[in-house]
Amino acid sequence: MDHHATTPLDSRVLEAMLPYLTEKFGNPASCTHRYGWDAQAAVEKARKQVAELIGAKAEEIIFTSGATESDNLAIKGVARTNRERSNHIITLAIEHHAVLDSCRRLEQEGFNVTYLPVRADGLLDLAEFENALTGRTILVSVMAANNEIGVIEPIRAIGRVCRDRGVLFHTDAVQAIGKVEINVEAMNIDLLSISAHKIYGPKGAGALYVRQDDPRLKLTPILDGGGHERGFRSGTLNVPGLVGLGKACEICLQEISREPDRLRVLRDRLKDGILSQLEGVHINGSMEQRLPNNLNLSFAGMEAESFLMALKDVAVSSGSACTSATDSPSYVLRALGLPEELALGSVRFGLGRCNTTEEVDFVIDRVVETVKGLRELSFLPEAAAGEPSRGDA
Ligand SMILES: *Cc1c(COP(=O)(O)O)cnc(C)c1O
Repeated sequence: MDHHATTPLDSRVLEAMLPYLTEKFGNPASCTHRYGWDAQAAVEKARKQVAELIGAKAEEIIFTSGATESDNLAIKGVARTNRERSNHIITLAIEHHAVLDSCRRLEQEGFNVTYLPVRADGLLDLAEFENALTGRTILVSVMAANNEIGVIEPIRAIGRVCRDRGVLFHTDAVQAIGKVEINVEAMNIDLLSISAHKIYGPKGAGALYVRQDDPRLKLTPILDGGGHERGFRSGTLNVPGLVGLGKACEICLQEISREPDRLRVLRDRLKDGILSQLEGVHINGSMEQRLPNNLNLSFAGMEAESFLMALKDVAVSSGSACTSATDSPSYVLRALGLPEELALGSVRFGLGRCNTTEEVDFVIDRVVETVKGLRELSFLPEAAAGEPSRGDA
């Protein structure tokens, strides 16, 4: 139930990858023999598979080591290329750290960054966004869907505004891919980040879509070297990983007409099951503009840290995987204006391809039982005396 952090490798993806880990080991840059040709053909097939899922052309896909690299390359690449004429970037306060920290780095280099707040439901306010655009804005980076609260940002509307104003638009679509239809043409997206391991592919493989109109979008590379990927990203390609990414995208495209609906039914069963048996449960983020597999709940009178320790047989988390070890409240939930007590009692559920109705029912029982147990405990006099500021709800 923690599929926002990562997903298991689909057996069909593994099967596609295996030959490229064994007999087909060639370097796609070796153009003088069969080993290289086979590897190159496999990589070009994967490029088509990725492009097809998002309505792009194969030559617009740059392969990377994952979405962290894609986000870095998109944001730093655009900013550093346009340093002379523009210096302003707009992003969202609830972006993934790969985006936020890239922007922070650029601030150190002299760029101005606007971190737009979100409404209490987690969505960007479009009027506020339009007001933030200036004549010096070069890039807007807004995620398609958030990895903690699953809200789906108004990407299409943002893309239209950016196109009208001549500003480049990047979106981190890691969590949206395979669950929400994304089309870079219809949505006026110029750059888009994808990660294989969030869509049942292998870890360490990703892609960046880079629009190739006329004039071509230029990016200053982060890695220098052999000039692979049209100079955007040097380094020998991770052939098995990219074959896996391509196959994972192909499967997402095949299943996008059914799987999101199945996930929504399971997610709603989970939500209704928990809410019907527990009081004091707060849903974080819009329920309307939301990924079909996400649920983020705050349980009053309970801390997520204790909950996660007590619930050993279900994999859930209190926020993003990167921050799940810290006990400070999530910056995403704080951006929604959630009181600290509720932010500390929040639990993220992310359903996935293998989850079943039986599993959901098991999780409902375990969650209800665990929350009740922790709330009772927090009423015990000795617990209250030990921690006077907590557990008194
Ligand atoms: C997981 C994730 C990333 C990072 O992707 P990696 O491939 O693990 O580097 C970036 N953005 C979002 C929204 C994510 O969920």
